Amino acid sequence: MISTDVLEEKAPIVGSLRKAEEVTWINPLLESTEEAMRKIDLTMEDVRDAEARLERFAPFIRRAFPETEKDGGLIESPIRETEKMKDGLNEKHGAGLKGRLLLKMDSDLAVAGSVKARGGIYEILKHAEELAIREGMLEEGKSYEVFAREPFREFFSQYAVHVGSTGNLGLSIGIISAVLGFRVYVHMSQDAKQWKKDLLRSKGVQVIEYAGDYGAAVKKGREEAMRDSASYFVDDENSVSLFLGYAVSALRLQRQLEAAGVKVDGEHPLFVYIPCGVGGAPGGITFGLKLIYGDHVHVFYAEPVQACCMILGMTTGLHNEICVQDIGLSGMTEADGLAVGRPSKFVGKTVEHLLSGEVTVQDDRLYVYMKELLDREGIFIEPSSCAAFAGPARIEKEEVCRAYLKEQGLEERMEQAAHLVWATGGSLVPADVRAEYVKKAEERRP
Ligand SMILES: *Cc1c(COP(=O)(O)O)cnc(C)c1O
Repeated sequence: MISTDVLEEKAPIVGSLRKAEEVTWINPLLESTEEAMRKIDLTMEDVRDAEARLERFAPFIRRAFPETEKDGGLIESPIRETEKMKDGLNEKHGAGLKGRLLLKMDSDLAVAGSVKARGGIYEILKHAEELAIREGMLEEGKSYEVFAREPFREFFSQYAVHVGSTGNLGLSIGIISAVLGFRVYVHMSQDAKQWKKDLLRSKGVQVIEYAGDYGAAVKKGREEAMRDSASYFVDDENSVSLFLGYAVSALRLQRQLEAAGVKVDGEHPLFVYIPCGVGGAPGGITFGLKLIYGDHVHVFYAEPVQACCMILGMTTGLHNEICVQDIGLSGMTEADGLAVGRPSKFVGKTVEHLLSGEVTVQDDRLYVYMKELLDREGIFIEPSSCAAFAGPARIEKEEVCRAYLKEQGLEERMEQAAHLVWATGGSLVPADVRAEYVKKAEERRP
């Protein structure tokens, strides 16, 4: 047990975190991108390599998931201008937000309906490619469409995939692994939603449930995988593959922003707000964005007050050596995609000098933002995703944020700024569950 008094002395913000108060935090370790990147082993070449792998697999994806036909077998989501939501944040939440507000619609990503369709699918494709190459099944120049056919499926059925998940990672890994022919086991925590378990089982995935939290599910998954030499464990806490799969999004976003006439340069800052669980998705995206836009992009994470593991790990410098339960928090939140008590050390260390800051959010607020977006823009995203709206709601309002903008020389440039909220999940949420969320939102109206 770590003494919270000692922690608070080291990182005074822990005093607020342990009381489950909402905080807005600016990262004192932020450095120039150039300096920060020098300390990171991964490079743009790694991201390009991941991008190229996804392109090789496009003929397979297109065939296995016909809904990706229009994007040529790439799993990608659009960006949307959300002017009316911006008005909502200003009118109802006193945000005082200038500039443009955009939504990155990973909530609509094909196959898995969440940001996990990036990292999760990428990691399994990479694993499948490695096995096929080792077996001599891939001749140079052969279209990867063959992955959808025999003998590939039968070959992969000799192998198992294990993953621990609060829900969405399990969906993404489960669906892609089952389609390739792997035997797949998803180890799920108690907070995983029933509909996600049902959906996975309908696809032939083995869902194993645990009474404990996400950490317990991951531990079990790892143990099971160790017992079987023909099995592969997707390690959400340490996976470089997952991270790079997420990072590819930045290359694609760059093209989308250009097409939408959104400039990003010294005069036009870009602010990006991403919901954070264990850190892989937001970390990979941050890394990709900083490689491309350097100091012109400002990335903020959003976490639930009860599961604020990344901010806890970063502010104390303890990373995965501390969990939210150590400071008396429950780790329980209605934002199931973010219900993680212990952060990834790999991600925390990687983004330590790249991240601009974080906001933590009470569960009630998730529903308020969700309903606001639904009413004003006709867009549904899941409550977990909605945490990110606390970013644009506070960036021009909170004292610490205003000080950050001033220090960065951005005060005069906020009219030309673009704010991008990363909508990380939603399209697979069944209609009855959506209706339940809306009902909850109505009960919580301010
Ligand atoms: C997983 C998830 C995140 C965060 O990703 P991590 O890699 O766990 O940090 C955010 N939103 C949703 C909806 C998710 O499912």
